[in-house]
Amino acid sequence: MILATLLALAGQDPLAVRPDSVHPRHDALHYDVALRLPETGTTITAVVAIRWRLSSAEPIRVDLDTTFTIQAVSLDGARAEWSRQGLQLYIEHRRAPGDTAVLVISYSGSPADGLVIRDGVTGRTYFADNWPDRARKWLASQDHPADKATVSWRVTVPLGLTVVANGTRTAVDTTEYGASWSFEMPEPTPVHTMVVGVARLAVTELAPATCTLHCVPVTVLGYPADSAWAVEGPFRRASEMVDFFSQKFGPFPYQELRHVQTSTIFGGMENSTAIFYDERGWSAHRLSEGTVAHETAHQWFGDAVSQSDWHHLWLSEGFASYSGALWAEHTRGGEGLRETMQQAARRIRQTPVRDRPIIDPDESRLMSLLNANNYQKGSWVLHSLRGLVGDTAFFAGIQAYYAAHRHGNALSRDVVTAMEKASGDSLDWYFRQALTQPGYPILEVTSRPVDGGLEVRLIQVQDSAWGSFRIPGLQIRINGTLHRIDLDRRDVTRVLPVDRADRATLEVDPFGWWLLEVRMAGGR
Ligand SMILES: [Zn+2]
Repeated sequence: MILATLLALAGQDPLAVRPDSVHPRHDALHYDVALRLPETGTTITAVVAIRWRLSSAEPIRVDLDTTFTIQAVSLDGARAEWSRQGLQLYIEHRRAPGDTAVLVISYSGSPADGLVIRDGVTGRTYFADNWPDRARKWLASQDHPADKATVSWRVTVPLGLTVVANGTRTAVDTTEYGASWSFEMPEPTPVHTMVVGVARLAVTELAPATCTLHCVPVTVLGYPADSAWAVEGPFRRASEMVDFFSQKFGPFPYQELRHVQTSTIFGGMENSTAIFYDERGWSAHRLSEGTVAHETAHQWFGDAVSQSDWHHLWLSEGFASYSGALWAEHTRGGEGLRETMQQAARRIRQTPVRDRPIIDPDESRLMSLLNANNYQKGSWVLHSLRGLVGDTAFFAGIQAYYAAHRHGNALSRDVVTAMEKASGDSLDWYFRQALTQPGYPILEVTSRPVDGGLEVRLIQVQDSAWGSFRIPGLQIRINGTLHRIDLDRRDVTRVLPVDRADRATLEVDPFGWWLLEVRMAGGR
């Protein structure tokens, strides 16, 4: 009974909800993938061995597109009974909970998506592009971020091409067919970041940064014509970024990092150890250092610490976006930080999703989660939190959160736990407001001179569907002097001790710690 009550309560925690329609069944521990990519045509052949820890008698469920012909399915070396229902294969087993078993699936076919094979100006390219659940379009897998696993690759390709994949390259062997490239990724990573990429690529190892913490090799792999610009441009400080974020968050989670020009549909995609960038933006010299910082930070947040449920995507995109702002602060000072945050604020004000909360259980389309709530507003959640608890507690909390969940998963509740411990403050109210309430405060501000100073009235006039907001210690600068007002309800009036109240110049939140809109009304 007690257990049932606790579970019911846990189910109600809005910061730990898991609205995804599918949840992992058994635990995939390791993927061993042998892949042969064709010189002509688009038919691939794959042998995927998955080592599982089984949690129940339920069949093993594996996602794989129906376009593939399955040649064989075995479990621990014996022919397995299996069935197919749409995009899922169900494999029977007779193991006890806790047992491990190795499932091997051999298949071939032409991927409709997920692994894109193209003949372009630079020749033939093959690039995986998995986000959010498109790995199943080519890779037999349990395609959900809550189930991370290690991966090893053996990719056989025609001669003359360069292969990248997650982890460290362990061998390149010449075979009768071409060349077989092997990679090992010893750290568990979500399936949507398990990738291979193959093309004619110019490889440039960047000079190491004056590195203080965890130095790793950083390499740029671009199409030969576009490579020199990239190395001198957006990737010029890519090594320094690894060191900077290592100091801010904790050591870089992997052994090395590659930045790759690819056919991804995204501007950048944070695949673990092998970040893929859109070839068009790269070729047209539109790829910015800010994008590189964002994708690099994802190696910590998104890859090493992954959301357990897609609806907590801000843990990935909000963190990466705020990391971009931190990089702007590092390179351009307070002005760089302010500019980045104001740009994010403008974006949020313009988007229809401002009427929805960041954690939005009603949104079931995963692609639609790539919105200004999870990116820009998620970034503001961290920025305001930093203003609220101060730099020391904020970065200690981020580091504790990273250390606790590195190579694992997290929900929003885990950030609250780490931040409360680091700051000593109760922050549940803050995260509920920031993550489960739509919108932001719109303040109508009036002031008038009275006996003893200036009377300042703040009224929250935002749409009532957004609710009302709490901002403790909101800064008000009057004639250059800082005052604080606790905005703890919809309508607050305070008299502030101000000289020359008749000629007061008033600024609300002058350092821009809060996402809000201020409307000054008469009397100033
Ligand atoms: Zn991102």
